[in-house]
Amino acid sequence: RGQRAKCLAILDEFRNLCATPVSRLRQIVDAMVVEMHAGLATEGGSRLKMLPSFVDVLPTGDEKGLYYALDLGGTNFRVLRVQLGGKEGRVIKQEYEEVSIPHKLMAASGQELFEFIAKELAHFVNREGDGFRPHGNQKRELGFTFSFPVNQTSINSGTLVQWTKGFTCDGVPGKNVVQFLEEAMEKVGLKMRVTALVNDTVGTLAGGRYWNEDVMVAIILGTGTNACYVERADTINKWNGLLPKSGTMVINTEWGNFWSSHLPKTYADEGLDADSVNPGEQGFEKLVSGMYMGDIVRRVLLKMAQEAEIFGKPIPPKLMQPYTLSTPHMSKMHGDETRDLRNVAKVLKDAFNITNTSLTVRKIVYMICDVVCERGGRLAGAGIVGILKKIGRDGTGTGSGSWGQGKNISCKPRRTVVAMDGGLYEHYAKFREYLQAAATELLGEEVSKNVVIELSKDGSGIGAALLAASHSPSP
Ligand code: ADP
Ligand code: MG
Repeated sequence: RGQRAKCLAILDEFRNLCATPVSRLRQIVDAMVVEMHAGLATEGGSRLKMLPSFVDVLPTGDEKGLYYALDLGGTNFRVLRVQLGGKEGRVIKQEYEEVSIPHKLMAASGQELFEFIAKELAHFVNREGDGFRPHGNQKRELGFTFSFPVNQTSINSGTLVQWTKGFTCDGVPGKNVVQFLEEAMEKVGLKMRVTALVNDTVGTLAGGRYWNEDVMVAIILGTGTNACYVERADTINKWNGLLPKSGTMVINTEWGNFWSSHLPKTYADEGLDADSVNPGEQGFEKLVSGMYMGDIVRRVLLKMAQEAEIFGKPIPPKLMQPYTLSTPHMSKMHGDETRDLRNVAKVLKDAFNITNTSLTVRKIVYMICDVVCERGGRLAGAGIVGILKKIGRDGTGTGSGSWGQGKNISCKPRRTVVAMDGGLYEHYAKFREYLQAAATELLGEEVSKNVVIELSKDGSGIGAALLAASHSPSP
């Protein structure tokens, strides 16, 4: 009883620390806009890297031919081929395969990682069947989606800034990742040209835009989180190159590294950060994304176990082990609609080997999931509204480029589509609902009718293939 009160006190305290009232969200929206400006103004001007992607044209639908894509970004990588038939034919045929990355490769050398990838890609190319045809006798062309922060040096080259999401492969940071891939492809005898190197957000934007011209922003909410959007090239002060003919440039914000003193941070987040492979980095990602939310829940439970014996004595050993509770575990508990919360019980057994919990204890576990999910979802929603505000699509009309409003003689508000990809958003319904609720609160009912968040599943893979096509050097 005393212990139960202690647990509830810990829960209450944690809930208060995580609170995201709309007033706080507005401060976060504004901080996001300020940091976006700072990141565009000067190199290193903000924690938001605001990386120019060199993508100045997006797919139109006219693309034709056979293109490949490779998507490396987290727990899996995907290979894909697509036969494009222009405006009429669109996507004539498409095939893809998904390969999980052996855990030890995440800490292997760069050569080992890329050779594994090139081998899998070569297998896939060897199984190219009927209906796929490269034009003439040209080399096959590949769009490479590489979902880590990259300093892009051209449309098909760029250096890795740093690994994220648990990767630590030696020798890659600071180097051109396309060269690693090309050398590995040569070693396995695969003849292919890399024509586009893109981030998964940029791929998702391109994939979304192929079908819908109102797509201006793309968000990833999966293992990690990131965002990109279409910016006016003349507002990128740090850009030294020629202004692109299109007048626009896709900016990869790398918002996973966003930070603001207004973000709610707790002891659980501090512990998680300190124990991570990249302390002090990716602060926003550690509050919001699938790699981390489950572990935040675990850390609060551990505190309850230590200070209030929520699971009795001794403390279950697995509860002390980082990442034993995944975000899919968390969402399974949080989606539990049974009266006795038997899914919560099942996950506690699976993840921690904890049995015989009381309903009260299971309710507390459920509530912790709710607090962490609500905070993550609402912060992601605020981030999206920050980007919309920056491009003048949030209904306040104060953005740097009030996009297309000049052309809009009728003054009807423009529709803005946010292309979304990632397993977290796709599979965690309550996260999705909290995100949408925060966005609607911030934008207001009226404006939010014109802002549509659209799931663009695996858009990043096909998007990279489309960008390979639209940036192909071949005639
Ligand atoms: P990646 O981000 O690695 O490219 P995905 O977009 O497929 O891959 O996202 C996978 C991530 O999504 C997982 O690491 C996990 O964090 C999250 N996820 C997957 N399924 C669920 C689920 N049912 N509930 C909550 N999160 C999930
Ligand atoms: Mg992905």
